[in-house]
Amino acid sequence: MKAYTGMRIVVVGGGAAGMAAASKAKRVSPHASVTVLEAGRFVSYAECGMPYYLQGIVKDLEDLLHYPVTEFTQRRGIDVRTGCRVTEIDTGKQVVKSQCGDFPYDRLIIASGASPVLPPELSSPDVHTLRSMEEASSIKASMRPGSEVAIVGGGVLGTELASALSEGGFRVTLVVRKHRLISALSEEVSALVAAEMEGRVKILWDTTVASVEGKGGQKLLETSSGQVRADVVIAATGVRPNSRIASDAGIQTTGSGAIRVDERCLTSEPGVYAAGDVAACRDLVTGDYGWFPLAQVSNKMGRVAGANAAGGEMSFPGALGTTLIRIFGKELGFTGLTGQRARDAGCKSVHITAGSRANYYPGRENVDFVLHYFPDGRVAGAEVFGGPGSAWRLNAVAGLISRGSRLEDLFFADFGYSPPFGPVWDPIVIAASVAMRE
Ligand SMILES: Cc1cc2nc3c(=O)[nH]c(=O)nc-3n(C[C@H](O)[C@H](O)[C@H](O)COP(=O)(O)OP(=O)(O)OC[C@H]3O[C@@H](n4cnc5c(N)ncnc54)[C@H](O)[C@@H]3O)c2cc1C
Repeated sequence: MKAYTGMRIVVVGGGAAGMAAASKAKRVSPHASVTVLEAGRFVSYAECGMPYYLQGIVKDLEDLLHYPVTEFTQRRGIDVRTGCRVTEIDTGKQVVKSQCGDFPYDRLIIASGASPVLPPELSSPDVHTLRSMEEASSIKASMRPGSEVAIVGGGVLGTELASALSEGGFRVTLVVRKHRLISALSEEVSALVAAEMEGRVKILWDTTVASVEGKGGQKLLETSSGQVRADVVIAATGVRPNSRIASDAGIQTTGSGAIRVDERCLTSEPGVYAAGDVAACRDLVTGDYGWFPLAQVSNKMGRVAGANAAGGEMSFPGALGTTLIRIFGKELGFTGLTGQRARDAGCKSVHITAGSRANYYPGRENVDFVLHYFPDGRVAGAEVFGGPGSAWRLNAVAGLISRGSRLEDLFFADFGYSPPFGPVWDPIVIAASVAMRE
């Protein structure tokens, strides 16, 4: 579809994907009118920085704004409407209906993100979720130095938050439904993460919450492991895509509820694109649709959707779901098929422990590296946990997996070497070498 002067591009959502899409659309087609409709008060904010704002490393909530709104309105010529929730998409008439009126469009980009999922027992005014700037601000307002914080959920967000808040001087209880942190990890890496948390975070394993009640300023959690008292309760019990307005309009979604898009980020409806956490894209390992609600994926999908909506040509190849988390100064990461998913796909795995630096160089720490690979030698995924440099190793492997690399490619990849950065046989190379011998 080619762009034309006066083309109207409407973007639903002003998060990472929406603002990347709007900015790119305006660059590709400067004469198009680009309007962003955002339900909240803020656009272009860093959700990923919120745990560090609550910890106290990031001092002001405003520091989490990537750009002031005037950057978009005055410098980039984008019409940004905040406090403007879209309630309906009429694809026949090409109009979106919102709290601030109807907006006709020639091209529509849905970038409405995802929202926390709360089980009924946690649906209480005494329980916070962490997604929007408003929620971050409300949690911060209820915290005092040394407050007791109960976090429900041992996934990526719950684990990251527990570590960050504990480092910030808060007394943290983490309530975990199973005996396992972060289900994407293999048992051994999950156990290493748990060992790192031990003594700094109180973890209640195999525990479910029955109810949460306010009791004289404190909150009382009734759990299967007994009562827990806390000043602040945060639920980190998962997210789901905000795709309802799309599915109501007949736009196709996948099993995860995310909007199905092709590599141009085009939905099943001509002229309607989707990007970011609301959309599903190609899983680079399996080739199926995958849902990767991550910032780097959202920004890139947004850019691709914006370019194509404005008449340009750009493709989003897909993603691996590469995730990095800091746990008490250690670096944790995983990418591609890992843990149980790797086993279910028939992958083999090797787990090695090696040094982060040359063995004579001070500050050497362990790096645990798990490599998952198909029986034909194609690398399927990796997990890493350890000292400084673990994150770059994971990213290096992610780059290779996304190109369909095999064990030999990892072994022979020309990673640089110097004693402060790693041993001459890097953990990645050792893992590939061990796997090649299996
Ligand atoms: C606490 C936290 C930490 C995170 N840390 C990391 C990290 O370290 N690394 C990483 O890769 N990812 C991280 N993520 C995930 C990352 O933040 C998201 O993947 C990314 O922000 C998604 O961008 P998005 O634009 O698709 O969605 P969102 O950022 O959710 O933006 C969607 C916007 O759409 C608006 N909206 C929704 N419905 C409507 C409607 N009907 N009408 C108008 N507007 C609407 C919403 O108000 C919202 O502002 C983190 C997320 C959280 C919550």
